[in-house]
Amino acid sequence: AALAGTASLALTVSACGEESEGSTRSRSEGGTVGIAMPTRSSERWLTDGKSVVESLRSKGYKTKLVYGDDDPKAQLSQIEALVAQGVDALIIAAIDAKSLNGVLQRAADADILVISYDRLILGTGNVDYYVSFDNEMVGRQEAGHIIEKLGLAKGKGPFNIELFAGSPDDNNTKYFFNGSMDLLQPYLDSKQLVVPSGQTRMSQLTTPRWDGPTAQKRMSDLLTGWYADRKVDAVLSPYDGISRGVLSALESQGYGSAGKPFPVVTGQDAELPSVRSIIAGRQSQTVFKDVRELADAAAWMVDDILKGRVTRINDRYNYNNGVKAVPAYLLEPQSIDKTNYEVLVKDGYYTAKELK
Ligand code: BGC
Repeated sequence: AALAGTASLALTVSACGEESEGSTRSRSEGGTVGIAMPTRSSERWLTDGKSVVESLRSKGYKTKLVYGDDDPKAQLSQIEALVAQGVDALIIAAIDAKSLNGVLQRAADADILVISYDRLILGTGNVDYYVSFDNEMVGRQEAGHIIEKLGLAKGKGPFNIELFAGSPDDNNTKYFFNGSMDLLQPYLDSKQLVVPSGQTRMSQLTTPRWDGPTAQKRMSDLLTGWYADRKVDAVLSPYDGISRGVLSALESQGYGSAGKPFPVVTGQDAELPSVRSIIAGRQSQTVFKDVRELADAAAWMVDDILKGRVTRINDRYNYNNGVKAVPAYLLEPQSIDKTNYEVLVKDGYYTAKELK
């Protein structure tokens, strides 16, 4: 938003996707940055909030951090308040990708820089930049784990699989799902993978607000409806909270005991209870996204732009939010399972003691 004014902006995007800009916005002193995070109920977002604050403070900024408790209306009024308080920049991880149009217009009118954090804000021209992970790769890593564990590339099968997707109002959901299905579809076509419930369209699979108990209920229903005389071999889950719900449903129907092992269950975020679950042989995989690096990227982006410097982008997907292509910087996720979870300790994400 802050950079949308043509008078203040000379934008050149070269063939290799590097972008440079010259803006009249240039300050040497720090300013205040409003940070709107979606929920406190998931560990990753607590780490995000804390890390963004730390990264910005180390660059001399003041911060105002708010959490929307997974309620789009609450988040909207929090962002309205930040705009009214006159922050210099906003870093927003939206709860509902499409609900921030009005307030972002006000932010643009007040010349506030807007960074879409992790989740792309849709349907407005008033988003300046996007920082995230390679979300399609997240889905590919989950599917890749299933393929490897079941030996699908070696021709094994048929196996029964059920599919879960994330929140329908989160733009990442379709990137995760499409990334997974790119790799899984050939095995569904060859019938090495079978979905007994027949539920394969994303609209049948979404989990509003990424809610674990909702996923648990759906998994219980699937088991009751379709698995009286079959067993589940794999569950595609896009987020650790959903995976834990799925595992609880499986456990209450006898999985995880002798002769009835847990299926391969994927996940995302490397949340502590899920990493412990992986070590204990329950959940099979997760995707580690080092959100400390994401926080850093958001902070240097804000700092570059507020100080009138050229900032980095590296997006190969050309993320379009329905109104414009939003210049993006994407980080790499990493698949974690029982064989390599020590990476989390080596990188200082967890201590060895926390994983005990
Ligand atoms: C994030 C994921 C997270 C999910 C649920 C997504 O937008 O990219 O890392 O698992 O939200 O919080």
